[in-house]
Amino acid sequence: MFGNMMHRPLSIIEILRFAVEAHPKAEVVSVRTEGDIHRYTYPECYSRVGKLAHALAKLGVKTGDRVATLAWNGYRHFELYYAIAGIGGVCHTLNPRLSAEQMIYITNHAEDRVMFLDTTFVPVIEALADKFPKDMHYVVMTDRAHMPKSGLNLLCYEDLIQDEVEEYDWPELPEETAAGLCYTSGTTGNPKGALYSHRSTVLHAFTAAISISDGLKEGARVLPVVPLFHVNAWGLPYAAPLTGASLIFPGGALDGASLFDLMDREKVTSAWGVPTVWLGLQSEISSRGRNPEGFASIIVGGSAAPRSLIAAFEKSGVTVCHAWGMTEMSPVGTHGILSAHHKDTLSKEELLDLKALQGRRVFGVELKIVDENGNRLPHDGEEAGELFVRGNTIISSYFNDTEATKAAMDADGWFGTGDVASINDEGFLIIQDRAKDLIKSGGEWISSIDLENIVMAHPEVASCAVIAVAHPKWDERPLLIIVPADVVRVAKEDIDALLLDHVAKWQLPDAIEFVDELPLTATGKVSKLTLRKQFADYKLPDMK
Ligand code: ADP
Repeated sequence: MFGNMMHRPLSIIEILRFAVEAHPKAEVVSVRTEGDIHRYTYPECYSRVGKLAHALAKLGVKTGDRVATLAWNGYRHFELYYAIAGIGGVCHTLNPRLSAEQMIYITNHAEDRVMFLDTTFVPVIEALADKFPKDMHYVVMTDRAHMPKSGLNLLCYEDLIQDEVEEYDWPELPEETAAGLCYTSGTTGNPKGALYSHRSTVLHAFTAAISISDGLKEGARVLPVVPLFHVNAWGLPYAAPLTGASLIFPGGALDGASLFDLMDREKVTSAWGVPTVWLGLQSEISSRGRNPEGFASIIVGGSAAPRSLIAAFEKSGVTVCHAWGMTEMSPVGTHGILSAHHKDTLSKEELLDLKALQGRRVFGVELKIVDENGNRLPHDGEEAGELFVRGNTIISSYFNDTEATKAAMDADGWFGTGDVASINDEGFLIIQDRAKDLIKSGGEWISSIDLENIVMAHPEVASCAVIAVAHPKWDERPLLIIVPADVVRVAKEDIDALLLDHVAKWQLPDAIEFVDELPLTATGKVSKLTLRKQFADYKLPDMK
């Protein structure tokens, strides 16, 4: 027997309509490519979203059509999120940091019809347009005065929407209708597409609002440093209006000093991003000797947050929530908000140990770890195996990619994350490593994340990475690559001494190499793929 309740389809545009009525004074503030700051309220935003929807329809965008964006975090990009999904299209966010080859692959695989781009990216498009899908419309996200000259036929965003009416008769779409498309950044081969629906996106917004409630509430001012082109900025463009939080979009300047100034001026209360961004902000905070005004919390994820980074923020009064997730999960899977009993019973150091783990699952995401035969492993904090996930915000298949789908799903319909993890008896996820980043030494594993985490605490280390180097006897051995904090190059004995407090002797790196900077992936994480290529022929001391 079914219940007697109404069934209203979950719909993305309803989030913005809700914010218009329930949170009409909350703001969207943007650092614009034009060089100034733009601000408006959710109701003002909604009026422009209606106009944009008309303009999209006139460009021929129909239900299911993919509309690409190539843009920084800003209000026009935010408007596109809602207008495209609102008329039944699919907002396909392109990552501008991808290689030309990947961008060509992705736009053709997605069969994008229209591309909206920031002025910054016009030269990129000019170089690639003849390899992009034919008959694509290009719309530059600026006004007439700032339109660049180009050999391409470029349309102007503000011109397009200027004469349209604000009211749009939004279609009532089945909630399974596709709404957003995001490709993994290809650290693991060809990029693969995750196609989100209205339903999954709205459910994810609820999840984020509940699970990461420290930073998401009425009156909060939230800074997504995580880009709109990286898994929908972790769902913030939906979760913020839902909760009544204001959004502060930083544009393209994401260095520590620019972020500090923006946060200070706009009284940002909570900021979301990957660890590399917070290392930059942390060093700015140390050199200025204070926090940006009003700064209360950060959400860090995308790669493992070093314990020392968490400690530095917590010490200055900023609460850190360490989250884990992935593109295929919309992305939030776990979050690191602790319980009252932890705060009551644990010492400061124990609390930091707990915060360095990847947190507990959010409602709607189930976790299991399995051995190589697919048998479930106990959640005892010891046994480690591949992590599988299941839930309404997780892909059931990759977009038009049967092979990749087959490789990722198990027989019971769970999605294999490619991460190796354990889960403790309180439900905390402990990511050991990506399976391909683990160092397989003499039949045992060494976690690169563990070693990096410990080494990062050394004052003479600005950042570091551990990769596997092929070894004739042990298969693989760890090589530690360090970016020094200053001119001093830390001695191997010092690093070994630090590590030996936490790991076994056989897990110590065999050698250290010093570099000026670490290569980053398109999403701002340390690119181990590039490092492995760079050090492919590396000879460890006992191999020379
Ligand atoms: P890409 O594979 O292109 O980097 P994602 O952003 O989807 O794309 O990356 C997801 C992966 O990032 C996860 O599978 C995991 O390996 C890693 N990751 C994300 N958050 C964390 C975290 N808090 N700690 C450790 N690893 C993380």
